[in-house]
Amino acid sequence: MNYKKQDTFYLVFKNLIYEKVILMENFSFYENNILKNTISSMVVKNRVANSLLVYGEKGLGKKTAADYISAALLCEKGNGMPCGKCKSCKMVLHKTHPDVIYAVPSGKSGNYKIDTLREIVENAPIMPNEGKYKIYIISDMDNTLVPAQNALLKLIEEPPDHCVIILTAQSRSSLLPTIISRVVSLSVHEVSSVSCEKALAQYGYKSDDIKKSVEILGGNIGKCKSYLDGENIFDAVKITKSITDAIIAAEEYLILKEFSELIGDKPMTLLVLELLCEVIRDAMSVNAGCNENMLISTYKNGAVKLAEHISKAKARKIYLVITKYIERINSNGNLSLAINSLCSEIKEAL
Ligand SMILES: [Zn+2]
Repeated sequence: MNYKKQDTFYLVFKNLIYEKVILMENFSFYENNILKNTISSMVVKNRVANSLLVYGEKGLGKKTAADYISAALLCEKGNGMPCGKCKSCKMVLHKTHPDVIYAVPSGKSGNYKIDTLREIVENAPIMPNEGKYKIYIISDMDNTLVPAQNALLKLIEEPPDHCVIILTAQSRSSLLPTIISRVVSLSVHEVSSVSCEKALAQYGYKSDDIKKSVEILGGNIGKCKSYLDGENIFDAVKITKSITDAIIAAEEYLILKEFSELIGDKPMTLLVLELLCEVIRDAMSVNAGCNENMLISTYKNGAVKLAEHISKAKARKIYLVITKYIERINSNGNLSLAINSLCSEIKEAL
């Protein structure tokens, strides 16, 4: 049966599957045993860190990890792993636990306003409603500006005992060093193909489609899911490959041509730039002597070829140029101007 995303029935159907996933799989947070063991040990030893940072690339499950951690801290069984069955776990799963508070970002760039974070700092001393901890989840901190981060710093420096702050970000470098030095950083990783396929199967996708998505995108459940939901990822992978090929060929005209496909589509541009960053990072890894099995991008062959054509220093230069433009486009710079000057900076770097 083919369900369209906008069909009400489809949505109900998907929600039913989602419920099933939750009850069966306990948060659908696969593998990542280092993170799980760290949290479990904190709970068992009663030495829970007041500030945690969950970091890793888009789609790896940082928000799922934050929910997993919240449930592990609040689970009535208290053995360091969410049982998924007690009242507390169920409330966390349904995002209705009164002691788990999700900060809401504002504005087009999806960052946090100073006032939002100040309010958290002011409310944090109030005791939890029913759990042992009051947990603040502040997701996707990457675009949050320095003054807003500074507003939060006060709470991270002197948190009340009952308070746990869980931050998530794609990269640790987007946070102030003063914050980084005070949080326990936990990274999330790609899962094995087997776990990824298992996770996706429970959303009801066809097994052939699942296999194809894992083949293209690897063990990143979120990215595979966007692909299977027919979101932009497939086109983005295609454009990323063409741009990589154009960079390998050092054809200025081709680079501009491929990038110009993106003008007018900010989300797609950002997605392509992120995928391109991964390809270039892979190329740098190849240049540094990494084995091909360790590459993570969606165009591993391209990364290997790129490594043959450009030096590590050049690759790094291009990488820095692209990350700079991701930031610029995120903070609402003019998209077509940004794309044009990005192309000329890439040309210069070559
Ligand atoms: Zn529980």
